[in-house]
Amino acid sequence: MKLFECQNCRQRLYFENTRCEHCSMALGYIPEATTLSALSPSDDGHWQALAAPGQVFRFCANAAHDACNWLVPRGSDEVYCRACRHNRTIPDLSDARNLLLWQRIEGAKHRLFYGLLRLGLPLVDRREDATHGLAFDFLGQAPEPFGDSPQVMTGHAEGLITLDISEADDAARERHRLQMAEPYRTLLGHFRHEIGHHYWERLVRNGVWHRAFRDLFGDERQDYAEALQTHYNRGPLPNWQDHYISSYASAHPWEDFAECWAHYLHILDTLETAHAFQLQIAPRTGRDPELARTFDIDPYEEADFDRIFAAWPALTFAINSLSHSMGQPDLYPFVLTPTVMGKLRFVHGLVQTSARHSG
Ligand SMILES: [Zn+2]
Ligand SMILES: [Zn+2]
Ligand SMILES: [Zn+2]
Repeated sequence: MKLFECQNCRQRLYFENTRCEHCSMALGYIPEATTLSALSPSDDGHWQALAAPGQVFRFCANAAHDACNWLVPRGSDEVYCRACRHNRTIPDLSDARNLLLWQRIEGAKHRLFYGLLRLGLPLVDRREDATHGLAFDFLGQAPEPFGDSPQVMTGHAEGLITLDISEADDAARERHRLQMAEPYRTLLGHFRHEIGHHYWERLVRNGVWHRAFRDLFGDERQDYAEALQTHYNRGPLPNWQDHYISSYASAHPWEDFAECWAHYLHILDTLETAHAFQLQIAPRTGRDPELARTFDIDPYEEADFDRIFAAWPALTFAINSLSHSMGQPDLYPFVLTPTVMGKLRFVHGLVQTSARHSG
C-alpha cells in the first residue's frame, strides 16, 4: 500500500486514521484519488478535502459505527462508499462484541478494495446485477444449542461472499487455522481468496481465458463437493508443493485459482509498501545477486510480470528473517515454484486485460 501524509502538517498517516495525531484535522479516504485527505468542515455534515481542492464530500454512512473512513462525493446519490455499498448483511450491532468483530472485518475489507481499485478491476454491485453482482453477508453462528439454522460457512457463490464473523476473533481463527493445518489464515486472506472466486466467474468463465485456465489449473467441471471431500479425507496430493501454492489449492481448480488470485493481491500490496518505503536489500553475506534488490517499481503501474516479481524472493527472504528475529513464524510461509509462477502470470495477464477494458 501507499504511504499517506497529512496535507496540512505532513504528519505520516495510516490508511485507517480518522484524525491527524499532530494537527487534529479530520481525515477521510478518497478512493477516486487513492489518497487519505485532511478535511475542513463545510456546510451540514460535508467536508472540503485538502487533497481535492474545490470538491466537497461526506462520510460513508458506516463512519457512524467507526467502521469506515471513506468519502462519498457530495453530488452522489450513494449513502455508502465504494467499499461499503457491497455489504448485504452485517451483524446485529446491538451486541458490542459483534460491533468489534465487524469493525475488524471492515478494516480488512477496505484493504481488499484498495487493491481492487488500484488494479481498476470491475466492481458491480447487487443493484446493477441482481444475480451476479458482488455482495457480502457477514454472519454470526446461531447460538447453541437452540440454533436450527444451518452453520455459517465462509465461501462464495455467484457474487455473494459469506464470512463467518468469528474469523475476526483471534482465538477462533487460530483454532480454525490449526484444525485446517494452514500456515496462514487472516481476514484479509479470506477476502482476497473469496474475491478470486468472484473474478473467476466474471473474467474467466465462458470467456477467452477459459481454455487457457483449464490448461493451467485443470478442468473445473469435476465435481466440486466430491473433490473437497476427497481432499479432507485423504489429505493433499503427494508433492503438492511442486504444483500448488498451498495444499488447499490442490483440492479443485477453482480453489487453485482463488489461492493464486489471493497471492497475486498479497504480493502486489506488499511490493507497493516496499516501494513506498524505498526499501533496499543488500545482504552483507553471500554471493547471490538475486538477493540484492531495490524496490523502485510501483507494481500497480508496471505491466511487465517479470519486472514486478523479480524482487519478491529477496523481499520474502528479508521479511521472513525479520519475523524470525521477533520469534514469529514466516511472514510469507509459501514457496513459488515455476509452475505456481506460471499461474500467477496467468492471473496477471487476466487482470491487465480486464482492467484495461473496465476503463
Ligand atoms: Zn496534520
Ligand atoms: Zn464505507
Ligand atoms: Zn475457495
